[in-house]
Amino acid sequence: MEIKKGIGVSSGVVISTAVVLDSEDLLIRERQVEPDQVAHELGRLDSAIASGLTDLAGLRESVAANAGKEVAGIFDFHLGVLRDKSVLRQISEEIRKNRSTAEYAVSTVMRRFSNSFLAMSDPYFAERVKDIHDIERRVLRNLIGQKHEDLLHLTNDIILIAHDLLPSQTAALDRNHVKGFAIDVGGRTSHTAIVARAIGIPAVVGLGNITAEVSGGDTVIVDGTRGVVIINPDADQLDEYRLAGEKIVLHESQLRGLADLQAETKDGHVVSLQANIEFPEDIDGALTHGAQGIGLYRTEFMYLASEVEPSEEEQYLAYADALKRLGGKPLVIRTLDLGADKYVKYKNLSPEQNPFLGDRSIRMCLHDIPMFKRQLRAIMRASMLGDVRIMFPMICTIMELRQARMVLNDVMEELEDEGIAFRRDLPIGIMVEVPATVIQADQFAKEVNFFSIGTNDLIQYTLAVDRTNEKVAGLYCPAHPAVLKLIRDTIRAGSRNSISVSVCGEMGGDPLYTLLLLGLGLNTFSMNGPDIPEVKKIIRSTTMEDARRVARRVMSFDSERQVMHFLREETRKIVPEAF
Ligand code: PEP
Ligand code: MG
Repeated sequence: MEIKKGIGVSSGVVISTAVVLDSEDLLIRERQVEPDQVAHELGRLDSAIASGLTDLAGLRESVAANAGKEVAGIFDFHLGVLRDKSVLRQISEEIRKNRSTAEYAVSTVMRRFSNSFLAMSDPYFAERVKDIHDIERRVLRNLIGQKHEDLLHLTNDIILIAHDLLPSQTAALDRNHVKGFAIDVGGRTSHTAIVARAIGIPAVVGLGNITAEVSGGDTVIVDGTRGVVIINPDADQLDEYRLAGEKIVLHESQLRGLADLQAETKDGHVVSLQANIEFPEDIDGALTHGAQGIGLYRTEFMYLASEVEPSEEEQYLAYADALKRLGGKPLVIRTLDLGADKYVKYKNLSPEQNPFLGDRSIRMCLHDIPMFKRQLRAIMRASMLGDVRIMFPMICTIMELRQARMVLNDVMEELEDEGIAFRRDLPIGIMVEVPATVIQADQFAKEVNFFSIGTNDLIQYTLAVDRTNEKVAGLYCPAHPAVLKLIRDTIRAGSRNSISVSVCGEMGGDPLYTLLLLGLGLNTFSMNGPDIPEVKKIIRSTTMEDARRVARRVMSFDSERQVMHFLREETRKIVPEAF
């Protein structure tokens, strides 16, 4: 048994069998398969080699066309190695005799091969070592790619162990069978973590080297509430966690009874609780949890989930689908927030040094007006089908906002010329997620209909802490007094200018901050669907007078420790079973 501590990013407990995805850098560990799996591994090897040969032949052809036959000749060596009978025999023997996985066999034999080249004094052969590594990686990528595919065809429940998962991979996980995951890297508000919470599966990130310590088939407990992973637990641990799991299920079923009740304080103050979604299909679950609308639709996930840019029509159909599911409830469509930790292959051809400070979000849209317009056209066409609102992300200068509005005006004119119907008076809002925007909040408030505070980014940009980096996760804290002042100032600017203000970052769904945000005067909270009941319970258990008192006290503290300690105590006084 081994216990590993990481960062719990999605609460709940799950016990299941591990499936390990090998790490991005293709470090392949020694692993044996059962005797009856040997034939399967040999089959995997054959198809990985066959795809390698096809890819290389295609590559050779296109290089020959673009750079000439001589340059293309370098691939003859690669093709030769993949066809070399002695190499192929050695790899299959490694699988047959030692029952190795295909990945391990390829890696071992290729390493042996390259070492023999390294030992030669002839510089020609020494140079070929790089080519052999290249070939090895190509075949391994094919093998690992196949495994990713296998994840789509699961038949048993599993816990996924990986070095990292992209937000798009997380969103595409088979929700019926992937019951939890644990990964080496990541922070609490990385998009991978956010998606885990949205799907409602327990997850622990930032575990360091969990991929090296778990083997496929191990029994694993993922405790997303405490941020702990237990590998091959003993009988006592299993009993303890089964009991904890049952308690959580009971607590959740009690909370479900709140779904149809208002988010109203004991003295009659009503706020709106909305949900964040990545895909229209998420709406049904959100409504079951009691969402009164969608406060943040992360539309970029449609881009992340597809190999090519979605067309205007595909986007329109997605928005129409979302509005149909909402049956008149509001839908805040956030325009594309790509970049940073949300890459699409066809957009990011040259990686940036500091992607969170780079060409992301509204900046990327304003650099690619045709793409931006395709999305805005889709939104405007859908505006006829329900209560649509548009939100621009990561706005940090007034000019960016005005430019975005100008592009929207162009789109409206074009639609008008084409005789296509749309709603002209659609509410327009911005995300407040950069400190500069808070400092200028009064000016922004005069030009928009609503603010939505993106605390995930606001925290990282205020405290200079990368939200996805587990090494600085301890410094990433919503309770930092500077962050709280920015939130307070945004809410005040909103109320001075009579526009509504919501929080749609993860802080909005964290029950620790519910009393504080309520007391600061927030009127809309948008969060992952599964977080709604707990937040509602806290709101229904307090009065505005009390919440304001809590907020006043919190704003007088000068350290995040004091803030968190006080908020925990105050919340437990009214909802003892919270957290
Ligand atoms: C935020 O930054 O708080 C936010 C809601 O946007 P995202 O998490 O998608 O960056
Ligand atoms: Mg953000």
